[in-house]
Amino acid sequence: MRTELNVLIKKQAADKIRKGFPLIEQTALVRALPKVDEGAILHLFDESERYLGKGYYGKQNKGIGWVLTKDQHMKLETTFFNSHLKKAIEHRSEFLTSEHTTAFRLFNGEGDGIGGLTIDCYEDYYVFTWYSEGIYSFRDDIYEAFQQIINFKGIYEKKRFAKAGQYVEDDDFVQGERGEFPLLVKENDVKFAVYLNDGPMTGVFLDQKDVRKRIKEHYSKGKSVLNTFSYTGAFSVAAALGGARKTTSVDLAKRSLPKTIEQFSINGVDYEAQDIVVMDVFQYFKFAKKKGKRFDLVILDPPSFARSKKHTFSAAKDYTGLLEEAIAITEKEGVIVASTNCSTFSMSKFHMFIKEACKRQGKQYEIVEQYSLPKDFKTTQSFGPGDYLKVVFIKLKK
Ligand code: SAH
Repeated sequence: MRTELNVLIKKQAADKIRKGFPLIEQTALVRALPKVDEGAILHLFDESERYLGKGYYGKQNKGIGWVLTKDQHMKLETTFFNSHLKKAIEHRSEFLTSEHTTAFRLFNGEGDGIGGLTIDCYEDYYVFTWYSEGIYSFRDDIYEAFQQIINFKGIYEKKRFAKAGQYVEDDDFVQGERGEFPLLVKENDVKFAVYLNDGPMTGVFLDQKDVRKRIKEHYSKGKSVLNTFSYTGAFSVAAALGGARKTTSVDLAKRSLPKTIEQFSINGVDYEAQDIVVMDVFQYFKFAKKKGKRFDLVILDPPSFARSKKHTFSAAKDYTGLLEEAIAITEKEGVIVASTNCSTFSMSKFHMFIKEACKRQGKQYEIVEQYSLPKDFKTTQSFGPGDYLKVVFIKLKK
């Protein structure tokens, strides 16, 4: 039996939860929780003992659980999960029937009503990512609900509940048929090779689909393109297919070289005509400056936080400096695509970083367009940090 517990919530937090804020924060509790198992049901009450909602206990990076329903009598079992999955599927109907895009997010945590769980589709395979042991304790009911409504070949899962949300190393296969990897998926007719049983990441970040499409269709033709923090080179592939004169991909991880060659090759792009550089991006900036290299299009998509031998990069602290480096090697009327998945600052703060960097470099600029998460990464207005992606296209002026 699952433990059930009544929990008192402080006034301000209670008001937020009443308006739909789904995260249960440690600081919201009137009294610290007694020792309780992950997955325990929490019944939340305000200080006047009015019912606020019910959720589960599951420790994540941020928060100690998620509110799942305001209905006191709702059972958090298969039927409940089934109805959430059905709604999520309706919202992605265009993807489920598309011949051009076969990889997308089917279920996006709190945006689809269940914080702590995401489900991604890769052709006929699905990857469940569990963000706490608490949500993982519901897995039998959730997999059962999923089987009732989706035809699939196989399911893989990522458990991201080691210390600070790190991936728990395991055989990630769950049920169905095992896939053969690489599995080739499509996104707006661009192919990506993915590996569903090879660590925490699969080879492509599905939240950039709109940006890759835009770069391919409107920003690449005839251009020299620098893709920094390039990982498997997904942006470079989009640019090459969009007619870039040449792409340069820079990532410090050794695996990025064979992975990028693979992504080019499956798309029929001659990788030998492209540059793929295994190097610290900050070293590369120095090298490019020394050689007088300049690019028409520079893509910046760093992780929120990274530590290399020589450098610690934190998007919240260091993005302005990163932009300055990029500006210095961008052609006079070139474009910088500045992207961040850092949820601790807003779009308006990001604009300030851009303004400051251009000012310091003595550059006029225009923001020509910007993007946040695509439709399949559904978010809820009541939870700001869920809407983490910020991408700004900056056109430099003479
Ligand atoms: N832009 C990529 C995703 C980036 S993931 C895409 O579209 O798919 C972050 C990548 O940054 C990782 O591959 C990591 O190896 C790389 N990285 C982190 N710090 C770096 C640094 N200082 N220099 C170069 N690459 C770095």
